[in-house]
Amino acid sequence: MTDFDYDLFVIGGGSGGIRASRIASSLGARVAIAESRYLGGTCVNVGCIPKKLFSYAAHYSDDFEDARGYGWNITDLNISWQTLLENKNKEISRLNNIYKGICDSNNVSVLTGTAYITGPNSVLINDEQITAKYLLIATGGWPWVPEYEGCENVITSNEVFSLETLPKRLLVVGGGYIAVEFASIFSRLGCETTLSYRGDALLNGFDHEIRQFVTNEIGKELTISLNSNISKIVNNNNDLRVIFQSGAELDVDLVVSATGRKPLTLGLGLENVGVEQSENGAVKVNSSFQTSEPSIYAIGDVIDRVALTPVALAEGQIVARHLFDGDTVRMGYENIPTAVFCHPNVATVGLTEQQAMLEGLNIRVFTSSFKELRHTLTGRDQLTMIKIIVDSETDKVIGLHMVGSDAGELVQGFTVAMNAGATKADFDRTIGIHPTSAEEFVTLRQSRSGIANSDMN
Ligand code: NDP
Repeated sequence: MTDFDYDLFVIGGGSGGIRASRIASSLGARVAIAESRYLGGTCVNVGCIPKKLFSYAAHYSDDFEDARGYGWNITDLNISWQTLLENKNKEISRLNNIYKGICDSNNVSVLTGTAYITGPNSVLINDEQITAKYLLIATGGWPWVPEYEGCENVITSNEVFSLETLPKRLLVVGGGYIAVEFASIFSRLGCETTLSYRGDALLNGFDHEIRQFVTNEIGKELTISLNSNISKIVNNNNDLRVIFQSGAELDVDLVVSATGRKPLTLGLGLENVGVEQSENGAVKVNSSFQTSEPSIYAIGDVIDRVALTPVALAEGQIVARHLFDGDTVRMGYENIPTAVFCHPNVATVGLTEQQAMLEGLNIRVFTSSFKELRHTLTGRDQLTMIKIIVDSETDKVIGLHMVGSDAGELVQGFTVAMNAGATKADFDRTIGIHPTSAEEFVTLRQSRSGIANSDMN
């Protein structure tokens, strides 16, 4: 290994890259990591963390309103966007420093700059050629905006975290994670918010009943325009007129396009090493995260398997152990829990009803929807839904879904149970915690069989 400057050169200081660096270094490897923008990547800087902080800010709006039903007399409510931004920025800087500290204390050299791959074992960064036995591409993804007349007027999730002022009228475009989260957040922060989605129910890919339910719940708090596509945007001195393909028009101050993300490989020099990419630009890897060039590996959003921070962390750890500890553990992609931090939250683990039916499983489906005890006094018109899918042959719970307060917090625990092979009988013999929403998961009695409907998603 001594012929090279480093044993591992990681390109991208996001969650996955830093985890891989730290583990590799702890296993005795000499590691460098290149980052051109900010340590911590999308998650820390323009993703999960600031988004969740904004989501907490937005929740206060509901809480203040709801408190009235409990006798609180709350007047003169307003938000200082500047305070929120300043405090958020302070926290992100703190996290950037923590990531730098993690690298320093683990003897990982952090190189600030853009790394360009020049060969199977070499990169150019800040005019310096550096060699490494292995290269690891962990460059993540980047927001993608479809092309139409006036699309240059939209912003993406990259810019939304540093808006100078809160817009009065906002259009969010898309129906995925980012769109529904930001529509929920900005509507609670007082913006007149419209969510425009090209499909007929939000959160494509989630369980069909959950999609219908959450579309309905979110629609109680903001305007949702379904089956809707933008034709063009006309900018009159920063007054944006959005013209839809239907002919409908909407005047807003800001358009946030949350129309998906693409793997970030531009300017990386992949052409110099012939690393294979799929049609959407994702770096192709085998089950060990090795690319078509044997000394080059890739993890995280740039391989476009499951674009979630905890998945990138797990992939980074597996690569480091594989390369420097001879570990042959493979990444498991089953039962990855996920939450969408819209209001109310959506969280899910395992199969949707549609997926179970497509796999030809004989299933029993249990659902319940109810008003949380809290809202009996708040008067808020918000319902919670839970759903579990049980394999009739094995009695195992193979899918679990929730729309409701803190769904993300709840579903994490149930994921452990499902990974341990929990059956419906295990759920049934579990004592509930009363009164909670979570106890509903262990008191479900009425089932129906699965519905094979090709329109379901
Ligand atoms: P998603 O893929 O979730 O959603 C993209 C949305 O854009 C979809 O509704 C899609 O519609 C729509 N869209 C795509 N192309 C067009 C087009 N040409 N015109 C109009 N609409 C279009 O991407 P996001 O950007 O929201 O999030 C990216 C990923 O980041 C997520 O998949 C998730 O893995 C991760 N993420 C996770 C979060 C979390 O864990 N809480 C939070 C945020 C992001 P359609 O559905 O019809 O294809």
